[in-house]
Amino acid sequence: MGMFDTIIFDRPIPCARCGAEIRSDQTKAFECTLDDYRIGDCIAHAEEIRIVGDDLYCNACKAFTTRYYLAVYRGVLVGIEQEREVAEALLHNFNFEKLLLWYHDLYRKRQHALADNRRAEAFMRQVCEWFEGGYDKQAPEGLGSLRFFLSRDILEKSETPLAALHHFLAEREAEAKAGDDNGQMSLW
Ligand SMILES: [Zn+2]
Repeated sequence: MGMFDTIIFDRPIPCARCGAEIRSDQTKAFECTLDDYRIGDCIAHAEEIRIVGDDLYCNACKAFTTRYYLAVYRGVLVGIEQEREVAEALLHNFNFEKLLLWYHDLYRKRQHALADNRRAEAFMRQVCEWFEGGYDKQAPEGLGSLRFFLSRDILEKSETPLAALHHFLAEREAEAKAGDDNGQMSLW
């Protein structure tokens, strides 16, 4: 109920009626995981080679105005096109070498996601330990130098566990933004 996937376009698609730029679409054509997908992401099962047509909603027209097509090759989203023929050509001309490069990138993304997950878990554990252990009440010189190594900067400036979470999330958003600006992802 109400679940979908969000496709983030590599370039905006103009509304066929008013010309407004549409930058993403919510679709129910795939697994509906509430995740964001971009070109190069694994969006479906590995055996899937297909074109998915969908209607784009224009916020300016308040209506579905624009047809577009997603090209999926071996489960990977390889193209977002306004013409069905162009999307089909993408699938016909897709070659194995290119697919290997996509898989290489996907593996890298997976490594980053695992590192992100490990970091978040470690941080949550340290927040518990810090506040339950009364470390927030101790003078800095009384604290072991390595124990809270990864989270120390955040913990020392946080009065409460909630403040620590806010600091952590803000730091992560800043890193994600910096990564986007550089066209790459950050490790943490
Ligand atoms: Zn429009």
